[in-house]
Amino acid sequence: MKVKKQLLSLNAYDPGKSIEEVKREFGLTKIVNLASNENPFGCSEKVSEALRSFSHYSRYPDGCAELLRGKVADHLGVQQNQLLFSSGLDEMIQMISRSLLSPETNVVMASLTFPQFRHHAVIENTEIREVPLKEGRHDLVGMQKVVDEQTSIVWICNPNNPTGTYVSDTEIKSFMKHIPKDTLVVLDEAYYEYVTANDYPDAMELINKYENLLILRTFSKGYGLASLRIGYAIGHEDLMSKLEVARLPFNTNSIAQIAAQAALADDEFVKRCSLVNKNGLQQYYTFCNEYNIDYYPSQGNFIFIKTEKSQQEVFQYLLQRGYIVRPIRDGIRITIGTEEENEGHLSVLKQILVEDASQIRLLS
Ligand SMILES: *Cc1c(COP(=O)(O)O)cnc(C)c1O
Repeated sequence: MKVKKQLLSLNAYDPGKSIEEVKREFGLTKIVNLASNENPFGCSEKVSEALRSFSHYSRYPDGCAELLRGKVADHLGVQQNQLLFSSGLDEMIQMISRSLLSPETNVVMASLTFPQFRHHAVIENTEIREVPLKEGRHDLVGMQKVVDEQTSIVWICNPNNPTGTYVSDTEIKSFMKHIPKDTLVVLDEAYYEYVTANDYPDAMELINKYENLLILRTFSKGYGLASLRIGYAIGHEDLMSKLEVARLPFNTNSIAQIAAQAALADDEFVKRCSLVNKNGLQQYYTFCNEYNIDYYPSQGNFIFIKTEKSQQEVFQYLLQRGYIVRPIRDGIRITIGTEEENEGHLSVLKQILVEDASQIRLLS
């Protein structure tokens, strides 16, 4: 087959082990998945209430997501034509890449960051300019230096997945001064609802100030609707109308649209989750500080901690005890769970990282 040659260098997405798989493999009854940054509290109860009467299974969804669009526009204080909806941000990243990237352009991103930015750049056969993180943070000065006339997109994951670090309002504004007006800067704010930093950028102000800036938000993380696949972008109306052309006619489904409206109306739920998450992060900070373990302070619902031991070994040890985390480079990324889940996980983490239990087991 004449498959694009760049596909041969990529792997299909690996979601990690499923809960059922791990249960079977290790004979466990209880598994805690801390690998996908899902909301440990599920979603607002208002969502199931809103979906109870849904029955239009035979009808196509509203392709424009008109009702949800109205609600999101009011919520954010933007015009409806400044919004674009997608089947999760994964689809948004694909849509943006498909619309802007080609072999004649280049794309700038951090290394290490959300892998889908790179994945779609490879598929579009675009030159990728990766700038290493500095102490887990985006090196905006380094990134600005590799931007040129051919740069089509700069991806900034804010907070950054997997390190949880963030770019401040001042940093992004001074970065934008050096970026050509026809280079699109995308701020992926998938974890926006969890952010607590006072100097985190105000997306709406940025949107009004820069026509070449796009903000991404999703209902998957803070709102707990990952299974329904719905997210959106906020940007200048001219850009949005162009991206609309690349959007599939019915890319967001009716159930997701209804659920998202209900979720958006329950601010209390999101605030509660964010507060519990903040305390959960503190549980990890306390643990890491006590045992001298390296980590990055996080603005997301996850934490990246560095492990001296092989990440695979740590991963396996946790897995066998019912905790799924994500091994990445020189560390592991852990989703913050409920207080109880965090406690349970930390006690197992202590066995492998502090008491070196794998050594003990090998010796005995
Ligand atoms: C989870 C995540 C996404 C994808 O979210 P969906 O809306 O579920 O597709 C995008 N960007 C970042 C940084 C993420 O962590």
